Amino acid sequence: MENRFDVIVIGGGQSGLALGYYLRRSGLSYIILDNQEEPGGAWLHTWKSLRLFSPAQWSSLPGMIMTGGTDYYPTRDVAIEYLKSYETKYNLSIRRPVQVTRVYKREGEFQLETSDGLYFSKTVVSSTGSFSNPYIPSFEGINVFKGQVLHSGEYQTPDIFTGKRVAIVGEGNSGAQILAEISKVTGTLWITQKEPRFLPDHIDGRFLFDAATQMYEAQKAGKRYRLPSLGDIVMVDAVKEARSNKVYNSSIRPFQHFTEDSLVWSDGHEEKIDVVIFCTGFKASLNHLDALGVINEEGKIDTDGTRAMHIPGLWLVGYGNWTGFASATLIGVGRSAKTTVEQLSTYITKQKESLS
Ligand code: FAD
Repeated sequence: MENRFDVIVIGGGQSGLALGYYLRRSGLSYIILDNQEEPGGAWLHTWKSLRLFSPAQWSSLPGMIMTGGTDYYPTRDVAIEYLKSYETKYNLSIRRPVQVTRVYKREGEFQLETSDGLYFSKTVVSSTGSFSNPYIPSFEGINVFKGQVLHSGEYQTPDIFTGKRVAIVGEGNSGAQILAEISKVTGTLWITQKEPRFLPDHIDGRFLFDAATQMYEAQKAGKRYRLPSLGDIVMVDAVKEARSNKVYNSSIRPFQHFTEDSLVWSDGHEEKIDVVIFCTGFKASLNHLDALGVINEEGKIDTDGTRAMHIPGLWLVGYGNWTGFASATLIGVGRSAKTTVEQLSTYITKQKESLS
């Protein structure tokens, strides 16, 4: 099997597929390498009851509308099915499971060490998301704690926590949604950096995307635009129900350290706890790019749009606003993917011209 391509995309989640959509009509040779056994990217690992915070029509990749219309908020299983059909419909070139362990550049060509042997390419697009790099803040005593500590990325269903006292750390959507369902089966404590903020009921991901688009367009035109003052937590049905049950009525600021069986605050206050679930987000999964020497102190890579600034031939897609506006969403990543493939084509054409 020839493992030499114009473009290698690392990661076959929604970002990798959006790139594939534009690559397949670009005339460039490409392959998408993904380390999962099946399609779905991060959605394969999120908790079972998760619902997207944008209606189906607003959760679509380029070319194929997710069915369900403007009022249906898809479950994670629907998102997975959608991604599966997407790659079949467009017959995208994907190899699974292939783990890319190390990328380096030799004599102008990228070489990729993978679980499937060496691959070579003129350009690389990394779209590995952040799910495999969960962030847990450091707390004194976390190693002596005899209870269970997990990250929201590992959480699946509430039933196994019945009868235990569970602390949920984090005031974002994951924290609010996981708290909503665990509080139905057992005693909980909500620990947040600041007072949680809830969006008005009628505002969802679709509205946020529109508002952020207006801001982006205004900034591009050199105009000032103020985002409406919005909170963070989207009022999906499960969150609305928890609000009626007064689940969100009290939250406390972070503790100082762990003991064997408790959390302790700086004023000496102590709470016995069996389980702590950190809903504290993720950072970009970029370990495979370590050898290129371009990862900065924040764990990111300096980019101009999606193009890496300090290493010709490398692009990054889907990691959030720093790699393209709204690129970490289904609806937003299409735009980043399109621009990236245009830039890849120009780059490769110039490279071919300079060699002829
Ligand atoms: P991923 O989906 O993570 O895909 C990356 C792929 O690359 C994975 O298959 C991964 O296993 C693979 N990979 C990683 N490293 C390697 C490697 N070294 N070699 C080979 N393969 C590799 N988005 C929305 O649009 N709407 C929503 O409503 C929404 N709700 C969300 C709710 C929660 C609680 C969370 C956590 C996220 C939500 N998101 C939502 C965001 C969305 O899930 C992610 O941003 C999205 O999955 C990112 O897509 P991606 O393709 O960039 O990365």
